[in-house]
Amino acid sequence: METLKEIVVISGKGGTGKTSLVAALASLFIDKVMVDCDVDAANLHMILSPERIIRESAFSGGKKAAIDLARCTGCGVCRDVCRFGAISSDFIVDQLSCEGCGACYLFCPAHAVNFSPHTAGHWYVSDTGNHARFVFAELLPGEDNSGKLVAAVRNEARVEAESMGKRLIIIDGPPGIGCPVISSVTGTNLAIVVTEPTPTGVHDLERVIALANHFRLRAAVVVNKCDINPSWLAAIKEYCDAGNHTFLGEIPYETAITEAQRAGKAIVDYNPGCDASNAIRAIHTKLQSILEEI
Ligand code: SF4
Ligand code: SF4
Repeated sequence: METLKEIVVISGKGGTGKTSLVAALASLFIDKVMVDCDVDAANLHMILSPERIIRESAFSGGKKAAIDLARCTGCGVCRDVCRFGAISSDFIVDQLSCEGCGACYLFCPAHAVNFSPHTAGHWYVSDTGNHARFVFAELLPGEDNSGKLVAAVRNEARVEAESMGKRLIIIDGPPGIGCPVISSVTGTNLAIVVTEPTPTGVHDLERVIALANHFRLRAAVVVNKCDINPSWLAAIKEYCDAGNHTFLGEIPYETAITEAQRAGKAIVDYNPGCDASNAIRAIHTKLQSILEEI
């Protein structure tokens, strides 16, 4: 059996059209597992429309403190040692402010502090029809363990791909270059970087490519709304040539892309004949060749 390959679609910031491209690739690639690693703002499920949840689990984001008021003597030691101001004057722990350092638990003379794992989110393995699988997650408000949740989601995607004999995992990565992005790209075979032909688009592209280089990850560049500024498009192509980064393709601005999003569909299904759909099919063809090489 061919080896399982993972490609991740990322961008330096949100709103570049990354998820629209991922949704289109989900429609064009047959034998794959889809993953939404943008756990802080998951939205791929609005287009992939899971038919049913097959498996799900709570995700523990670490430990947090809670004070048992029946045992608490009111000595105040916990408030003195808490560097995050998470304990109120009546000894209630604010769960959003508690950083889980454990100091109050260690120093409480009355052993009144419970320090236990808490639920930070949930992940889901779903069926999107035709034996296709989609793994996604949601992080609860105020939680910041998105890097760990991304790792959990990717692990479930691999379990699913291996048990179903799938050869490809396509990951919708979070925007930016932070911890959840690093969790999304680590160990993948290819990063598709989506950008726009603007000065900030070029700046964000450079930052994301630097991240890919750091992890010795091959990067391939897609320019969305390629026709809004020809000179910046040319600059991106020159940058790719100079750095030996694959220029994967360019997608023209198309109002049908927004209409497709509103309709909860991939553009290649919503309007298969439009220029954007043609461009994405060309990207898909090129990607298939690259996947043969890597
Ligand atoms: S250190 Fe323990 S006993 Fe003292 S106020 Fe805090 S929870 Fe209560
Ligand atoms: S675990 Fe740390 S951050 Fe949380 S309440 Fe106790 S001392 Fe404060």
